[in-house]
Amino acid sequence: MRLIENWFSERYSDNLQLSFRIKDQLLSIKTDYQRIDLFDTYDFGKLLSIDGTVQLTEKDEYVYHEMITMVPYYFNSMPSNVLVIGGGDGGAARRLLDLGIKKITNVEIDGNVVEVSKKYFPDIASSFKSPDVKLIVGDGIKFIKESKEKFDRIIIDSTDPVGPAEGLFSGDFYKDIKSHLKDDGIVVTQSGSPSYQPSALAMANKGMSEVFKNVKTYLAFIPTYPSGLWSFTMASPSEMKLRDGPVKNGKYFNSDVLAGSFYLPEFVKNILR
Ligand code: SAM
Repeated sequence: MRLIENWFSERYSDNLQLSFRIKDQLLSIKTDYQRIDLFDTYDFGKLLSIDGTVQLTEKDEYVYHEMITMVPYYFNSMPSNVLVIGGGDGGAARRLLDLGIKKITNVEIDGNVVEVSKKYFPDIASSFKSPDVKLIVGDGIKFIKESKEKFDRIIIDSTDPVGPAEGLFSGDFYKDIKSHLKDDGIVVTQSGSPSYQPSALAMANKGMSEVFKNVKTYLAFIPTYPSGLWSFTMASPSEMKLRDGPVKNGKYFNSDVLAGSFYLPEFVKNILR
């Protein structure tokens, strides 16, 4: 008898891909915005993919979600009112709740991502049950144009800069973001793999530098994202300074990571120049 193996591969280029051996494909839907697939993998538990790119896996989601929320949390004054754009899986909101944030607005363009996450990642999406999280299904770009509210932190937890997320990396969008940040507020975005997607990092850095005086890039190791090395870019109208006081450990995040993730290899500095 011949054994059949099933694999899901995320293609990085014509010549490179990362493959996960899967037990099963649990879902595949085409929404108005994107294609959503869900796999049960051998090594990483359930894996959510959008348009063929890994969004999260059960096993390593903690790295991304801790790093996009906890790093900006410890700079400037203590945040209390936070906006998440994207993040339909609920993972960023969940970490913000863990940090004690009492007012979280989460604007996700595709309600299907929320529903899939509630069904297949109930722990991660448990944030949407909290009375402290207000979920709005809508376009983050439109929301930011129409809202009058000011936030302490704005977390752009989006897909890569193609399709509905393209505008989330533009200078015009960051201009609108600035008008919704408090004086020492901070915006942070995921900005892709410096190795395989240097243009995403360059785009986020350029767009933010056009609008904000203070921009910082930091890195994390995320095993299931392209190359493993991932970048985040954060910016503020004020100088960004670490607050005094103790730092809470996550599973990835701790005080060493908070300091060390800002030390950049030379090839990353070159992307930013
Ligand atoms: N951790 C992920 C990554 O970097 O691969 C991001 C995960 S989260 C699921 C990304 C979400 O951003 C998707 O659910 C997508 O629908 C949402 N998104 C994309 N463009 C958006 C927009 N313009 N407004 C609001 N949400 C958007």
